[in-house]
Amino acid sequence: MIRLRTVTATTAALALLVTGGVLVAAPAQAAPVPVSPAFGSIIDDYADYEPEDDCDPTAKPGTLALEDLLLDTYGPATVYIERSCVSGGSSGHHAGRALDWMHDVGDPEEYEEAEAFLGWLFAADQYGNRDAMMRRLGLMYIIWNRQIYASYDPGWEPYYGSSPHTDHVHFSLSWDGAYERTTYWNPQDSFPAVASCPTPPTLPAPPPANYGAGLGYVVTTPTRLLDTRLAGQGVAERCKLRAHGRLDIPVTGRGGVPGSGVGAVVLNLTGISPDIGTYLAAYPAGKAFTGTASVNIFPGEITSALVVVPVGTNGTVSLLNGSGRADVVVDLVGYHPLSGGALYNVQAPQRALDTRVTANPLATRETRNLALPSVPAGATSVVLNLSSVSPATGGYLSVSAGGSSASGTSSVNMIAGRVVTNRVYVSVDQARSINLYASAAGHVIVDVVGWFGPSGRRYVPVTPVRAFDSRTGFGGADQLVGGRAQQIGLQEARLPGDAVAVVMTTTTTEVYDATHVTVWAHGQPRPATSDINTYPEHNTANLVIAGLSEGSVDVRLGHGESELVGDVLGYFR
Ligand SMILES: [Zn+2]
Repeated sequence: MIRLRTVTATTAALALLVTGGVLVAAPAQAAPVPVSPAFGSIIDDYADYEPEDDCDPTAKPGTLALEDLLLDTYGPATVYIERSCVSGGSSGHHAGRALDWMHDVGDPEEYEEAEAFLGWLFAADQYGNRDAMMRRLGLMYIIWNRQIYASYDPGWEPYYGSSPHTDHVHFSLSWDGAYERTTYWNPQDSFPAVASCPTPPTLPAPPPANYGAGLGYVVTTPTRLLDTRLAGQGVAERCKLRAHGRLDIPVTGRGGVPGSGVGAVVLNLTGISPDIGTYLAAYPAGKAFTGTASVNIFPGEITSALVVVPVGTNGTVSLLNGSGRADVVVDLVGYHPLSGGALYNVQAPQRALDTRVTANPLATRETRNLALPSVPAGATSVVLNLSSVSPATGGYLSVSAGGSSASGTSSVNMIAGRVVTNRVYVSVDQARSINLYASAAGHVIVDVVGWFGPSGRRYVPVTPVRAFDSRTGFGGADQLVGGRAQQIGLQEARLPGDAVAVVMTTTTTEVYDATHVTVWAHGQPRPATSDINTYPEHNTANLVIAGLSEGSVDVRLGHGESELVGDVLGYFR
C-alpha cells in the first residue's frame, strides 16, 4: 500500500493565490521535533533483532502511528509501508512493520527535517537513557544517507545495501513497536513490557539412540511442563518466545516420566497469540532443527498440535518458534520407554462421534462420556483425532479416561466459526470409554485410528524426514484435488518392510477452502474420517498416524485444491 498525503490547500491559501498576492518563502527556521508524552524513568530495552522473513504486509498499528507522528510533525510526504511478499529479499515491508519516509538529502528542507527527527530519536532523555525515543518507539533499525543505526548495535555504521537511501529514511520496527507495545504509546510507568525468553546455550549432541526392536507406550496424567505466561512454569520469568528463539525443556523425571530409559515423549504444543503467523517445532535437544514444524498458529489465535519427540541431551527436548513473538504452552501426555509399555494396534479409522449427525452438540462446560465400541477389551489407551466444529465462541476441548474428571489441559482450542483438529493420545477406562469436556458449546467429532494394549506393535522414532511435498512432486505426491484419492508411497522415508503404521506431521498449504484431508492405509476402503481440517490461505499441520499398505497411504481432499507436505517422525512395526 502506498499512503500518500497530498497537500490540501486551505481556503486562505487559495484566496492568496487567486488574489494574485506575492508568495514569499517563510524565513528559515530549525525543523521541529515531535512533542513527546511525559515519560517516567522506565524505558524499553533496545529492540532485539527480529528476522524480517514473514509475509503479512498489512500495515501494523505502530507503523501507522509512526507515519502519523512524522506527517503531523513535518507535514505531507509520501510514505511507503506495505510491500508485496513476491518482491525479493527479507524486508520489514513484507510484514507491515517498516516505513519509508520519502525525504531527499538533496533538498535542504527535507534534509533538515530528517536530521531533526533522527536527532530527536537518538537524544538521551532527562533520565540519561540513550537513544530514548528510538527505544520507546520500538525501532529496530534506521537507514538514511548511506548509514544504518541499529538498536542491536547502536550508533551510525556505513550501509552497503543496494539502495543508498538518499531519497528516503527507512524505519524498521520490532514486533512490540509494530503493535504499539512500547512506552511511547503506553507512557505510564507500569507498562508491562514482556521480555523475550532468554535462549539457552546449545547443548552438546546426544549419544546415538538405540531403540532396539522399538518402544512401547505409557500414558501419563497430562502434566504442564511449560507456560511462558507464568513465572516458574518452565521459565524463570514471564516471557515470550522470540522469532527463532529456543527453549530446552526437561522431560525426564517429571510428570510420571522416569529419570532414564525413555526413548521419546508425546507432547501437546500450544502456541498463543503470536504477532504474526508462525510455527512451533519440537526436536531432541542437542540436535539440529530439521525444519519440521509441528504446529502452525495464526496471528492472535491459539492452536495446539500433538508431537512425538525423541529425548535429547540431558533428558530435554528443544522448542523453537518460527516468527514474531508468541507465548507457548507444553503439556506432557505420555512417553515411550526403552523397555516395557503398551503396544500399538492399527485399526481402520472409525468415526466414533459426530454431534452434527446426532444433533446433540456439547453444551458449555458439559462433560460427556463416549463409549468406543471399536476398541477391544484390554486396550489401555487410544489414539483419536478430535475436532471442534465451528463453535459460536472460542474455548477448549479436554479429553480424559471415562470415569475421570477433566485433566485441566486442553487437547483442542476451539476457535469461533472454524473447524479445529488435533491428534489425541488418551487413556480409556475398563469399559473403553472416554470423557469429553467442552468449555464452550459446540459440535465435536471424534475419530479413532488405533489403540494401545498388552500386545501389538512397537514405535521406532526416526530423525524427521520429508517423505513427500506435492508442491514439487517430491516423493511422488501431486497436488490434491477435491474428491480424488491419491496414493503416496513413502519411499523417501525409507521405512522398513515390517512397518505397519506411520507417524508423520502433515501440513496443508496453498489451500483456499475450508475443507478436510483424510489419510488411510493404501487400498483399504476410504474411512469417513478426517485428519486435517483446512482454513483458507493458512497452513495447517496435524500429527497423522495412518496404517500402511505396500508402504503407502492414500490421501484425499474433500473439495477444492491443496498442497500437502509430509514429514515422517517414526513408525510402528
Ligand atoms: Zn524501506
